[in-house]
Amino acid sequence: MSDKTLSGMEWIQLGKRYLMETYNRFPVVPVRGEGMTIYDCDGKAYLDFLGGIAVCGLGHSHPEVVAAIREQASSLTHVSNLYHIPQQIEVARLLVENSFAQKVFFCNSGAEANEGAIKLARKYGHEQLRGRDEIITMKNSFHGRTLATVTATGQEKFQKGFEPLPEGFVYVPFADIEALREAITDRTCAIMLEPIQAEGGVIVPYHGYLKDVRALCDEKNILMILDEVQVGMGRTGKLFAHEYENITPDMMTLAKALGNGFPVGALLATERIAAAFVPGSHASTFGGNPLGMSAARATLHVLLGDGFMDHVTQLGVYMKQRLEELRGNHQCIKNVRGCGLILGMEMDMEVGDIINRCIEEGFLVGSAGTHVLRFLPPLVVEKSHVDQLVGTLDYILGDI
Ligand SMILES: *Cc1c(COP(=O)(O)O)cnc(C)c1O
Repeated sequence: MSDKTLSGMEWIQLGKRYLMETYNRFPVVPVRGEGMTIYDCDGKAYLDFLGGIAVCGLGHSHPEVVAAIREQASSLTHVSNLYHIPQQIEVARLLVENSFAQKVFFCNSGAEANEGAIKLARKYGHEQLRGRDEIITMKNSFHGRTLATVTATGQEKFQKGFEPLPEGFVYVPFADIEALREAITDRTCAIMLEPIQAEGGVIVPYHGYLKDVRALCDEKNILMILDEVQVGMGRTGKLFAHEYENITPDMMTLAKALGNGFPVGALLATERIAAAFVPGSHASTFGGNPLGMSAARATLHVLLGDGFMDHVTQLGVYMKQRLEELRGNHQCIKNVRGCGLILGMEMDMEVGDIINRCIEEGFLVGSAGTHVLRFLPPLVVEKSHVDQLVGTLDYILGDI
């Protein structure tokens, strides 16, 4: 096929013809990436401040991850979980040694990891909590698009049209510990939440909230499930965001940055809870295959290297400060918030036009809802990249 020679506009038209229209796509056709930079099929370069939505934490085509995938692909790609997979055992060991957890289950996405968490919580509830099976989640949350995870997601706009939804979910406002306490009944088996609501608009709860949730879970003998799919894997400057509050959950889900772009998800749990899963309880054909695990192992190796988290923290502080300066110059910026390198800038207008102007100027940025610009750069971002973005935003916002 000579399709490689199509222009960006031609690809966009062809895509409209063949793909289900589940996305409102921006007019960019990326074909190559390196570190912070993406190149489109017409040769234009973009600085990537979205990182594939918090996926490419180490930047595009990180040499160590590329080498690992290349080497693994040429020796063994897939064998099935009917056999023992050394790469899978190694990644599980790395995650366990660097977290609260004792056991890991691997899958292929964030939704699947959360689906696994919901199933494990219910199974544990049925067997160990006298049949309790209800899960409390947060309004404005995001946990995925499968039927159970879209039901866990406390936003009607994602659920509308897909009824009947699975039963057993109850919603409370985020960062409201009294509302949470009141929602607990003798049916409640677990509370599931994001440490920072990412899709919901980069909402950071008051400091101490996770500690309060942990205490409540302990008091009521309820499981605490943290969805760290977006904010885990170093995004906030700690390997996992909950480390900021010195607490440990009973379960945690990961995906996005875990394979730096190779699809890998994981459900982590303590030994006591993981024991509710026995052979046959749960499975995934692709989950934990040698290829995905080689990508995750290389990614973890870089993330856990000396000084990596310090860089994230420093750049997070720097970028937030530069965005705050920008706010001083532009009244349309209402608020700058976030932690480490997940940052949101709330505007007094819809952000679609701003994102399109950024694209024209060679910058990829995201949104969270209609009024919040969201920045999720690869964690290897440097101050000079931030300065370029801020300079361009300054110019665009002056113009709008
Ligand atoms: C992206 C995301 C998910 C869903 O992950 P998928 O890989 O798209 O299924 C779940 N939870 C959170 C917090 C996310 O950001």
